Order: sequence, then C-alpha cells, then structure tokens
Amino acid sequence: DAHLKSTLFGHPIGLYILFFTEMWERFSYYGMRALLVLYMTTETLGDARGPGLGWTSQEALALYGWYTMLVYVMSIPGGMIADKLLGQKKAVLLGAVILCIGHGVLVFTETWAFYTGLGLVILGVGLLKPNISTMVGGLYPQGDIRRDKGFSIFYIGINTGSLLATLIIGFVVAQWGWHAGFGLAGIAMVLGLVVYLWGQKYLTHVGNLEVQDIKEEEESSYGTLFQNLLISKKQLTVTIALAILSLFGWYSLGWGYGLLFIFLTVIAALMMMIYKELDSQQDKDRFLVLLLSFIMVIIFWGAYEQAGGLMNLYADTKTDRMLLGMQVPTVMFQSLNAGFIIIFAAIVASYWAKRKLKGKEASSIFKMAIGIIIMGFGFLFMVFATMEFEKVGSSSMLWLVMAYLFHTIGELCISPVALSFITKLSPVKYASLMMGVYFAATGLGNKVAGILGESASELGEYAVFLGILVFTIIVGTLFLMLLKPLKRLTHGAEDNEK
Ligand code: GLN
Repeated sequence: DAHLKSTLFGHPIGLYILFFTEMWERFSYYGMRALLVLYMTTETLGDARGPGLGWTSQEALALYGWYTMLVYVMSIPGGMIADKLLGQKKAVLLGAVILCIGHGVLVFTETWAFYTGLGLVILGVGLLKPNISTMVGGLYPQGDIRRDKGFSIFYIGINTGSLLATLIIGFVVAQWGWHAGFGLAGIAMVLGLVVYLWGQKYLTHVGNLEVQDIKEEEESSYGTLFQNLLISKKQLTVTIALAILSLFGWYSLGWGYGLLFIFLTVIAALMMMIYKELDSQQDKDRFLVLLLSFIMVIIFWGAYEQAGGLMNLYADTKTDRMLLGMQVPTVMFQSLNAGFIIIFAAIVASYWAKRKLKGKEASSIFKMAIGIIIMGFGFLFMVFATMEFEKVGSSSMLWLVMAYLFHTIGELCISPVALSFITKLSPVKYASLMMGVYFAATGLGNKVAGILGESASELGEYAVFLGILVFTIIVGTLFLMLLKPLKRLTHGAEDNEK
C-alpha cells in the first residue's frame, strides 16, 4: 500500500522509523554506559551527585567489562527468539518495553534496583539491537544497491544518539544527581518506543515471522539441530576438545576465562550444527564466509575499543589538553568518534557506491579488510604520541584526534558494511541468529580490548600500540590476499547490485 511505497531521500520511510528508534535506544545505552563506572566508583558519602557504590576502580571495571560483553552476547538468544518465536518486529517491541522498565528501575537507589536494572538492560538490548539491524536489511530487496547506503544512514542514527547522550548526560548528573541521569536514559527509551509504535504502518512488510517457517518447523527447527550434534562424531569430538580447553582455562586462568571458553564452545557447536543443517552448498559456502569475516570483526573491535579504556586514560594522564588557555575535559575525546561518524558516514558510503558503479573492487570483504588497515594506521599516531611523551613528558592532543579520525574512517568501512553483508549472506531462517552472532563477536572484541588494555600496565603503552598497529595491518593484508577465494564462496551475493 501507499505507506510502503513512499520514500524520503530515496529510501523507504521505514528506514527513518528504525533510524529514530535506534537513535533513542543508543542514547539510553551510551548515556547510561557513560555513567556506569563513575557511579560505581563514587564514594557512598559526601558526593554532590549523590551516593555512589563506593567500589574500587578494579571492581568497577570488571563489572563494566562483563556488562558490555553480555549486552552483545545476549543478541544470540535475542536473535533466536526472533527467528523461531516472535519475528524481528515483535522482538524489537518486547526489547524496547524491557529497556524502558530496566532504565526505569535504575532510577531507584537501592542495590537490588542496580542489578535488576542492569539485567533488564542486557535482556532488552539483546532482543532489540540485532533484530532492528536485520529489519533494516529487510527493507531492501536482494540486489538493491541502496542497502549499503541504508545501513550507513542507520549508522548515523546510532551515533547521533550516542553523541547527544554523552554531551548532555554529564550536565544532568552534575545538576540533579546520578539517578536523574539514569532517568534521562529511561525517558530517551520511551521516546524510542513511541516512535517505533507510531511508525508501524511503514513496517508492515518487514520483520514478520515467516508463515512457512512454522510449517517447516518439524524439519528445520533448532530442536532437530541439537539432535544433529549427537549424530556427527566429528562435531562431538571438536566440542569435547573445546570443553576440555574450557576447563583448562578455568583452572589456569580463573573462572572468568573459563566462562569465556565455555561460551566459545557453545557458539562453535551451534555454528557447526547450523552448517550441517543448511541444505545447499551455496548456503554453506556463504555461511563460511560470514564466519571468517567475523574473525576480522573480533580483531577490529579488540583494537578499536581501546578508545574507552587505554586511550581514554592516555588522554587523561599523558596528554597536554590545554586549548586557548582552558583545559579540555577528558570525556570530550569520547565524543570525537560519534562526531566524525556523522560527518564522514555519507562521504565514505558514496565513495564505495561510486567505486562499485565504476566496476572497481568494492565487495564487503574488501571494504572490511581496508577498514581494519585504516583503523590500524590510527595507532601509528598513538605510537608517535608515546614517543613524544618519552621525550618531553607530555604529548599533543592532535595525535589523539588523528587516531580517532582514522579509527572512525576504518569503523565506517567495516561496521555498517558488516551489518549489510550479514543481511545479504545469511540463510533466511537464521538471519536474526547470525546478526546475533555478529554482535556477540563484537562483544568478544570488547573483552579482548579490555585484556589488551590491562596488559599495558606491564608492557607499556608504546609496545601495546605498536603491537596493535602491526597486527591489524597484517590481518587486513591477509584478508586482501584471500579476497578472490572468499568472493567465490559468496556465489555472487554482491554481484549485479543495482
Ligand atoms: N557503535 C556501534 C553501535 O553501538 C557498534 C557497536 C558494536 O557493533 N558492538 O551500534
């Protein structure tokens, strides 16, 4: 009907509904996230912003690491629920409602409210984030060249939310205290829910549970997947090997790593089951390419996410932040990334679209490999920064600005591109699950980033930054060398896009 045919700036109106829903969701997520560590480490007495939890920074960072990882890992069950039970559209709705409740609970000052609120946010993001991303893909027919650009526009929404939140929430907390800050996140999420409900008429054709899926249930549900595991000896062997590795990890490195290995085991088993379950060689090959590209995703975010950790500390303690006689607050550096995204997203997307139309190489794997290399180059500036610090005892802000610029351009080559790529390559019946696995991979990257960041206290920043620079460039180059075989395995999923 008419609602579905109308477009704005060449894209379906549904894109803008999802844009604003996700913008408010990310506002609440990044706003709350910005407060989290500060709130946990603030003393229980005598702070103008109200009592904090009085934790040590190590305790706070540990919870923060688990929280940011779990938020994305829950995208796997979130995706499964969409594929098998609700469809993406209802899963997003449920996620949004749970998020409103979760942020609402955080307004209360009791300890139970803190944990309950965090738990609900984890569940809510898990249901909303992967499924809203899959819905963006659903707006475009296969082979539609606008899809990549649609995801870039969507990505601008994400970062507008994050930029607004990080600029505003600090002031709100300074004025009215912590729980007002959490409340603001809650209000943002309510706005997101309102936009989503209002815009339903533009989304009638996407994110629905496929009717034939239910009929096929008998043959291809997750239930039979688990039976497959018992059938194949090869799979069982690999799973047992990984399980043993998990136990080993548990004993030698602590329960945190043990859990991480167990989690990896479960994912590996799940992926093997799905691979076996796919009926055509084309689906199998495409699935394999997706999994391989997730290696790039983990490495990318593992390096990139130094932003909030090591680079943040570097800005705080080793950078000369005087500008026009005033000290630039450390947190301002965290807004650079979102700002750069908003400026460069359209430019980068148009560049790739033009290249593609000219018939030059612009496949997703190519862009992702280039993205990793560009992001890696950003660390060259951090290496220069540490060298300057060694010489004169402080380093220029410009190094950080340049590093964030390269990180952002790299992010634009990999992150919206990967979202789009997943919606092109995933087998339809596992589309949401694969999006969930992607976000879980980014969550894993976050965890890797934390581990790398911690190692700097032993190895020094210079070694860590240089190591990341060299490693990411090698990985990117390797994927460029593998481009041809990998593209062959996609069976032309990106050819003839018009
Ligand atoms: N910054 C992006 C977002 O919030 C990417 C996050 C991710 O992929 N882990 O959507």
